[in-house]
Amino acid sequence: MPDSAWTGCGVDLLFDGMTLDLPKWFDLHTHFRQGAALPAYVQAHRDMGCAGALAMPNTQPPVARVTGPNAETAWSIQSYRDELLAAGGSAFEQLIVPLYLTRQTTAEMIEQGAASGLLKACKYYPPHGTTNAEHGVPMNSLIGGDVLRAMERCGVVLCIHGEQHGLSGAEYLDAQHNAETTFYRERLPWLLDNHPNLRIVAEHITTRVAAEFVAAAPAHVGATITPQHLLFTLGHLIQGLKYHLYCLPVVKFEEDRAALRLAVSNPDQRKFFAGTDSAPHATKVTPCGCAAGCFTGGCAPQLYAMAFEESGISPLDGLGRDLFEHFLCRNGPAFYGFPASMERFQMERRTSQIQALATAAGPVTPLPTGLGMELTWSLVGQS
Ligand SMILES: [Zn+2]
Repeated sequence: MPDSAWTGCGVDLLFDGMTLDLPKWFDLHTHFRQGAALPAYVQAHRDMGCAGALAMPNTQPPVARVTGPNAETAWSIQSYRDELLAAGGSAFEQLIVPLYLTRQTTAEMIEQGAASGLLKACKYYPPHGTTNAEHGVPMNSLIGGDVLRAMERCGVVLCIHGEQHGLSGAEYLDAQHNAETTFYRERLPWLLDNHPNLRIVAEHITTRVAAEFVAAAPAHVGATITPQHLLFTLGHLIQGLKYHLYCLPVVKFEEDRAALRLAVSNPDQRKFFAGTDSAPHATKVTPCGCAAGCFTGGCAPQLYAMAFEESGISPLDGLGRDLFEHFLCRNGPAFYGFPASMERFQMERRTSQIQALATAAGPVTPLPTGLGMELTWSLVGQS
């Protein structure tokens, strides 16, 4: 049955009750890595209607300079971006590479980078907090310093991996608190007090504390949420030790998932947006543990649609559709200051399965495949 109440925001509307026609979306936190597998990772994003991405700078070595050729100690935004463009990224409408904040980052780099147009964002990694995070600088030593002041002046976004570094055992993860809640309770208020105009994206938030902090913060503080944190809790990871679901920050508890679902359900709230944190690992299990990161290339919109449905929001009707479209396609571009895509992609409420992605580094297992999970949505086209 056609839905006459649904008007959409674009052209070529398709709607037969089960088909969703959307502007192409933006993944404002993803990992494309480097090397021979790069084209496959970029293609997997293009195949799922993704119009652009913010590509994380935790390469080896990190993207720690703005310009210049690759050096042994650092890539530059310019050189990594060129690499991504050559690997198929030139088809993206937007491609943002943040600068990895290290001890070598200077206010001068920020000012010159912003003036050149290459520098749109910087990335805070808690030292040793996740994959290739060993170059990170503690938040304590950044707050009040010249680098953040220059970012604040120039309107450069601070992308934050919000976990307190250096914690272990019960301080790292316990029922009442964890590295993320500590960070959002103790570090972020201090950061905002010292840098009231700094534009901030709280990335891949996982907890009620972080979601409530962002919701109450000024409009220039936004957040990305991954599909896995909307869909799963620690129980899903632990029961059967489903290591494909292992990512950092790790999935949390039911009250946390409920808070994330509430955040994306609020029609008055436009500060939460898609950032998959898709992180391909050709070798996921290592001799001493497991690489952090869920690979959702090729299946992120389907997983987000499933997560919205589980949150009681149907992407197929009225308000639900509007919420889904804003989260996936519009809020992120609005936050970063670029237009939503004029191109479209289509999804259908029909089951599908996704296979391992063949890459030059070997097959990479997408999250639903690793979990033996059927997708209840399918990608059906792009226009
Ligand atoms: Zn990430």
